[in-house]
Amino acid sequence: MSFRRIEDAPNEQTALVRVDFNVPMADGKVSDDTRLRAALPTIKALQGKGCKVALLAHFDRPKGKRVPEMSLQPVAAPLGQLLGADVAFADDCVGDAAKAAIAALPNGGVILLENTRFHAGEEKNDPELAKAIAALGDFYVNDAFSAAHRAHASTEGIAHILPAYAGKQMERELDALEAALGKPRRPVLGIVGGAKVSTKLDLLHNLVAKLDRLAIGGGMANTFLYAQGIDIGGSLAEKDMADTARAIMEAAKGKCELLLPIDVVVAGEVKPGADSQTRPLGQINADEKILDAGPQTVQRLIAAMDVSATLIWNGPLGVFEIPPFDAATVAAAKHAAYLAKQGKLIAVAGGGDTVAALNHAGVAQDMTFVSTAGGAFLEWMEGKALPGVEALTR
Ligand code: ADP
Ligand code: MG
Repeated sequence: MSFRRIEDAPNEQTALVRVDFNVPMADGKVSDDTRLRAALPTIKALQGKGCKVALLAHFDRPKGKRVPEMSLQPVAAPLGQLLGADVAFADDCVGDAAKAAIAALPNGGVILLENTRFHAGEEKNDPELAKAIAALGDFYVNDAFSAAHRAHASTEGIAHILPAYAGKQMERELDALEAALGKPRRPVLGIVGGAKVSTKLDLLHNLVAKLDRLAIGGGMANTFLYAQGIDIGGSLAEKDMADTARAIMEAAKGKCELLLPIDVVVAGEVKPGADSQTRPLGQINADEKILDAGPQTVQRLIAAMDVSATLIWNGPLGVFEIPPFDAATVAAAKHAAYLAKQGKLIAVAGGGDTVAALNHAGVAQDMTFVSTAGGAFLEWMEGKALPGVEALTR
């Protein structure tokens, strides 16, 4: 796969840079700045070339309307702090006001443009919107791998109007994912967990064909246990997916060793410090929920990491946001990071909640690569072509 890189871009011109600033917010403030930090190498490289940097991003789902609570304005100040420079803000991603604000920037100046999804044309990949955005700059850089699975005006359409380059983060993502799933060192272990059961069942189908072992955790594992006739009490599960789960177990036979939970942590309610118990399978009351993997399951997963060369991980093993249900995810994350640091395991992880869980465990920086992409990471793991990446390839 070959695409133009920032080094090949012109100097002292205006770059329109698509970034992923769809960050977690709490009380109108950025609560996890992982995605802001991920954009810094590209912004700094363009500043180094004397370019003006106009940042394009979406936030949340305003569905083509101006929704004040979904403004990107609260992102400008924390970005400026990380960058060590002022970040200007324009309250639209098209039009004369944005144009004037960009014109007023010095070379190397940075401006954040308002939420692209305030325009209905963004998600429709409307060529008129793409043209209007393109009119603000000289060339385009896509650094939002995480938005590359959608053909939108700011992720795909614009790449056909202006000279288009891959940003630093985009390059790193593509290289790391190629190393994990393209031509991986074997044996390869996968961990899939989390809550999006139905979407990830498709992914599981693809992974059992490619990986040597696959550990299934989180709410998703409940569906598999249910499909095997195990009583899961009041746990989250998609019971109508039982046939699919059985088909996946069948497809895995003889190819990919499936690691389903062998013990679980249950509680009556999902709240911090809730009274929880470790149980073997099949001993769960109707009013109890499975909220984490048990210690034996974690030990077996750690042993599987020890004999693997590559790990690819999406989705937490339990309700990691609410201790004590973070225990399995934290223990697994710490061991993966320990092996990665010693050079014994190529450990690649991705997904919005997965990144938060690795940060919670304090080990995100010790993994080989952590993708900040959610859906795009999953679609890549499913083996699909991403339109935002395709538009950069020549
Ligand atoms: P990612 O964003 O990394 O792709 P998901 O969104 O699929 O991950 O899943 C993360 C969510 O799954 C978390 O909010 C977590 O609380 C939830 N989860 C994990 N295990 C369970 C469980 N046993 N029951 C209910 N929810 C769970
Ligand atoms: Mg999620």
